[in-house]
Amino acid sequence: MSIFFICLEVEVYFKILGSSSSGNAAVLRTSESTILIDAGLSCKKLHFLLKEEGIEIEELDAVFLTHEHNDHSAGIRGLSKYGNLPVYANQDTVQAIQAKLTRRPNWKIFETGAPFSFRSFKVHPFSVPHDAYDPVGFYFEWGKQYDLFDKPSSLAWVTDLGYVPTLVRERIRQARILVVEANHCSKMLEDDPKRPWSLKQRIRGRHGHLSNQSTFDLLNSFDENSWEKIFLMHLSKDCNDVNLVKDRFSALNGQGDRFSTYVVDPSTSETIRV
Ligand SMILES: [Zn+2]
Ligand SMILES: [Zn+2]
Repeated sequence: MSIFFICLEVEVYFKILGSSSSGNAAVLRTSESTILIDAGLSCKKLHFLLKEEGIEIEELDAVFLTHEHNDHSAGIRGLSKYGNLPVYANQDTVQAIQAKLTRRPNWKIFETGAPFSFRSFKVHPFSVPHDAYDPVGFYFEWGKQYDLFDKPSSLAWVTDLGYVPTLVRERIRQARILVVEANHCSKMLEDDPKRPWSLKQRIRGRHGHLSNQSTFDLLNSFDENSWEKIFLMHLSKDCNDVNLVKDRFSALNGQGDRFSTYVVDPSTSETIRV
């Protein structure tokens, strides 16, 4: 499994451990902290995948959760035995997850829309339109925050949303590392024999998921942005195809020149350059 080093002003290590409707999680490590963004894989699996990256679960400084859906929170049951590990989520998300647990994780409750600091990170949780209690995306900033002449390092985690409101658009534009979903191919979803019509309506609705085309149009609509790397994630295993996404996004304006784009294979979590 490849290790990803991205050099901005400071060395940062970012790796998507899982990305699909069967489990999303990523690890972000800077010189000062190691955090997990979403925990949609079992604790056992997280343990194994982190170890492959040379990281022990005990080394995690915090977990940040976007919403209560299982593919983003399944690992919390097992992680709750690490009693000191802070798990950041908003109140509604905590309530929904805690209802299914016997132990109580070290919950740290934030308010959607209110930025807060965690170690060297400034964390901005922002609301996204999705069929969950209070789903959020995250914008993390770190590094040269007080230097007027240089932009801080930043990562936006934008997944599970039916459309892109103006505030989310702004976070996407500002991020130097952008992680965004390209959930389904509309045609493949339409033709899928396994999903009932009502579920298809939910997926493509205003509180569902972004299709390849919606994400492509979104990214192509910016005149100005800060991107260095884009990761396309949360691909549906049945209703999307890595090669389709690769082909579509190779036509992205600025791709390969101003920034590089990667697609995350939902079966292997392998990161493939577009
Ligand atoms: Zn979801
Ligand atoms: Zn999801």
